[in-house]
Amino acid sequence: ASINLPQFVDQIMERFEMSTKNESITFKHKIPDRDMFVYGDRDKLTQLMDNILSNAVKYSPEGGTITCALKAEKDRVLVSIKDEGVGIPKENIPFVFDRFYRVDKARTRNLGGTGLGLAIAKEIVTAHGGSIWVSSDWGKGTTISFALPLDEEAEQL
Ligand code: ATP
Ligand code: MG
Repeated sequence: ASINLPQFVDQIMERFEMSTKNESITFKHKIPDRDMFVYGDRDKLTQLMDNILSNAVKYSPEGGTITCALKAEKDRVLVSIKDEGVGIPKENIPFVFDRFYRVDKARTRNLGGTGLGLAIAKEIVTAHGGSIWVSSDWGKGTTISFALPLDEEAEQL
């Protein structure tokens, strides 16, 4: 189906805001007030956002800010989710999309997880003809970004 991504992402962000009310995390939206359609599977794209946002929440400190930005660029739309959490050491970055990979088991032991979230996220983005990447500063935070092709036909409706 054709999905209006700004509206779709806003709704998911709102759900996360509600569900983390007790964790003093601030959510910022940098989402343009216009339509940007992508063609995709609504459930899969929900899971994509959930996997990325649940990491951002899990690895954020008390009082951290999570910023979600979205913009159209040529024939694609870029989405980035930035947190102020523990970050990922440079040498671990190439592996975070591998199945069952978790950075520093000791560090994340208490946080739980199987190391599948980002592997699944990558599968979903790839199946939609897009790409996903990470940039992170150890100790400063992490940004996960993905790009999906714009649905040019829907934009003309
Ligand atoms: P699961 O998602 O299966 O519950 P997980 O969160 O450990 O487990 P992934 O979501 O695949 O697994 O992430 C892989 C690893 O990358 C994590 O274990 C963590 O070390 C690191 N990571 C992912 N996102 C972040 C983030 N926002 N900040 C810091 N580290 C992160
Ligand atoms: Mg995860």
